[in-house]
Amino acid sequence: MVKNVLKILGIIVLIFIIILVVKAVTISSKQVEVREAIPYKIDSMSVAQHLSEAIQIQTVSNQDQAKTDVKQFEQFHKFLAKTYPSLHKKLKKEIVGGYALLYTWKGSDPSLKPMLLMAHQDVVPVEDLTKEQWKYPGFSGTIAEGYVWGRGALDIKNQLIAVMEAVEFLISKGFAPKRTIYLAFGHDEEVGGEGAKAIAKLLKQRNVQLEYVLDEGGAIMEGMLPGVESPIALVGIAEKGYLTVKLTVKGEGGHSSMPPHHTALGILSKALVDVEDNPFPKNFDSPARQMFEYVAPHMKFPLRILFANMWCFKPLLKWQFEKSESTNAMIRTTAAVTMAGASEKENVLPTQAWAMINCRILPGETMDSTITYLKKVIDNDAVAIEATPWSNDPSPVSDIQAGSFTSIATIARQINPDVIVAPYLVLGATDSRHYNALTNQIYRFSPVKMNAEDLKRVHGINERISISDMGKSVKFFIALIEKTHM
Ligand SMILES: [Zn+2]
Repeated sequence: MVKNVLKILGIIVLIFIIILVVKAVTISSKQVEVREAIPYKIDSMSVAQHLSEAIQIQTVSNQDQAKTDVKQFEQFHKFLAKTYPSLHKKLKKEIVGGYALLYTWKGSDPSLKPMLLMAHQDVVPVEDLTKEQWKYPGFSGTIAEGYVWGRGALDIKNQLIAVMEAVEFLISKGFAPKRTIYLAFGHDEEVGGEGAKAIAKLLKQRNVQLEYVLDEGGAIMEGMLPGVESPIALVGIAEKGYLTVKLTVKGEGGHSSMPPHHTALGILSKALVDVEDNPFPKNFDSPARQMFEYVAPHMKFPLRILFANMWCFKPLLKWQFEKSESTNAMIRTTAAVTMAGASEKENVLPTQAWAMINCRILPGETMDSTITYLKKVIDNDAVAIEATPWSNDPSPVSDIQAGSFTSIATIARQINPDVIVAPYLVLGATDSRHYNALTNQIYRFSPVKMNAEDLKRVHGINERISISDMGKSVKFFIALIEKTHM
């Protein structure tokens, strides 16, 4: 009898394992089949030279607008006009909201909705403290060792220059777009993005509806996921919302020799610990799930068994994801306690204690639902919770079935046949969030290969891009613009 039961159990387990393995073996790739390469020959060195010149113009944006050196932006505009003469002849140029640039390349078919290519002109500063650590000075634009070095080489003058080069090239070939193409380059993305906001507002006033927007955000990441050998072209289909909340607790003040059981700071501290101890709920559904649906067919065994059978291993995967900060951020709203203050003197009871919590909100949730959750977790009326300005809800999730996504995915593989493409959730904020009212399809991607080391160069030391990636980026945008015919 027992023997029979064991036998049956054994058979069930075996069948179950077979199902998992069969699923893992037969899971089909979602990659677009790419046959032909992009035919054009690009002079990568000349492109690199132009990027070098662009880097040397120090378009640093400052939180305090009055401190921004606007002469640098004027010089940058002059540089663009000089370097891309055909573009400046053919396209309409508008300067919007101070120093943001909007170029319009009118298409021949007004029934087609326009596309909009983005980048930003501004860069973050090279910190005085780190100046010495740069291999080549941060604004030198040095071309050496196969790279262009300097601030903006990855974020994101590379994209701006690649777009300009592509348009200049296509004009020289006599290309005329069917679909209108906008080029939109903000001047203050790193400090809030008022330029992008002004461009979006202007287009809205003109009743423009866009087919799609392409901005920075994802790249071609090497060695990002265990069990995946190919570089992954991460195309951002959504970005997290941004919300800083201020917590305030009022106190009686007075002399610290006769304190109450809990001071305002003590009560506040308890609230902060409660927030840290009760993370937001995990949500493994899109876009994290969509990313793994694209990546799973290219994973090695045994990991492929896990990711090909997410219906079965979801709890295990969630638990695994929670363990690293970068994957944890993909599956839930995060809350980081960043600033605090209380009494001005060590022997005076605080009359008020305050703290800031910076939250990054997962698509599907909102600023309101985030505050409601924090209130529930803190559960103390003595703690006032309010949102600060500069906050925004998460973006909508763009459609990976849309033709525009397929175009980006196809071309990404045409310029780098070894990559696989996957949709992706951008954890930071980009200027593209200002365009939510103009289109349902916003993608965030740069056709540049990066590894974990390179990620640190963005806003860090020794920012650089390979000359070959600059050439490929130009090809990418040429092909993308040509696709507008379809
Ligand atoms: Zn950027």
